[in-house]
Amino acid sequence: MALIVQKYGGTSVGTLERIAAVADRVKRCAQEGNDLVVVVSAMSGETNKLIEMAQSFSQSPKEREMDMLLSSGERVTSALLAIALTERGHEAIAMTGRQAGILTDLAHTKARIQEIPSEPIMQEIQAGRIVVVAGFQGISPSGVVTTLGRGGSDLSAVAIAGAIKADRCEIYTDVDGVYTTDPRIVSKARKIERISYDEMLELASMGAKVLQNRSVELAKKLGVKLITRSSFNENEGTLITNEEDCMEKPIVSGIALDNNQARVSLFGVADRPGIAAEIFGALAKAQVNVDMIVQNIGHDGKANLDFTVPSTELELTRKTLGAFPHDLGRQEYDNDITKVSIVGVGMKSHSGVASQMFAALAKENINILMIGTSEIKISAVVDKKYGELAVRTLHDVYDLDK
Ligand code: ASP
Ligand code: MG
Repeated sequence: MALIVQKYGGTSVGTLERIAAVADRVKRCAQEGNDLVVVVSAMSGETNKLIEMAQSFSQSPKEREMDMLLSSGERVTSALLAIALTERGHEAIAMTGRQAGILTDLAHTKARIQEIPSEPIMQEIQAGRIVVVAGFQGISPSGVVTTLGRGGSDLSAVAIAGAIKADRCEIYTDVDGVYTTDPRIVSKARKIERISYDEMLELASMGAKVLQNRSVELAKKLGVKLITRSSFNENEGTLITNEEDCMEKPIVSGIALDNNQARVSLFGVADRPGIAAEIFGALAKAQVNVDMIVQNIGHDGKANLDFTVPSTELELTRKTLGAFPHDLGRQEYDNDITKVSIVGVGMKSHSGVASQMFAALAKENINILMIGTSEIKISAVVDKKYGELAVRTLHDVYDLDK
């Protein structure tokens, strides 16, 4: 008997039949003696449809009204699921974010959760009901509906699980869990049983996003045990938990490929104190997310500076540096690169992991353009055309299919 938060994503509640299947599944779990809070997304495609409807009237609709509009998608699913559960003979109650007490700041369309009192939900649980909460939404201090940003229902579920001290938070999607790498690239990719929050965050850039990043960060902060699994089968999913719970700490847990990366090279930047602060200050001000940075040792008062930015922000980077008040030397912008990373907490206590990675890439004749490391990750920037080969090679080298 446990107190469980379950969250069903858009595809899991994408049709009336699927909502019925979710109701069956939830009821079964309740019959096993568990107390349940169910958080739902809007039916798949619904949020986009609502955005399009608004845009048919205005290209810049007021964010307050957008929140009124978008929050309705999740209300629909929560009410339908509660109705389906009641019809199946289990008492259930649907709640909006407001009714569940989800207090946020006033940042419409990207609000942050400030506080969730446990009483509104727990009173209903104690009365024997399954509580179905509309995800993705809350209420500002002045009582206006807010939404939490795209994919925000994951965040609702984790925040509620933290607030009511649930035993676990299960996130249901259309995939079985977190894989050692993208199964579309490596067919032998394996589902991971347990992984730490930090590894999950590093792997999140990997193909299909299983979980919204903010929700993993929040789960780590609140110590919420997260399980991600499929709503279409009974397979056990992946447990995302703290590092101490991951008994056998693999040296490498997974391989990530990030194709949304571009490289900027500046040949001949003035080698003086403050120049890096100015360049990256200008990029930060333009809201460019700089990732890897490499600066070489300067000669004759000049240095070379290489860094990566998301491909989608390459034009913005070019524009920002074009307007930079000082000479940056020759500039190169390369969109034909990709970033391959190996991720694993076991790296902390093992040597030779990096050299093994580089040797494997060398054996395939893959040239490494940039290298970046953190405590639990080693990344190599390579030509885009070698990205998938690099992933397959590394998946093999670290025996991730075993
Ligand atoms: N319906 C919202 C979206 O599509 C929130 C979510 O599904 O998590 O972004
Ligand atoms: Mg989602």
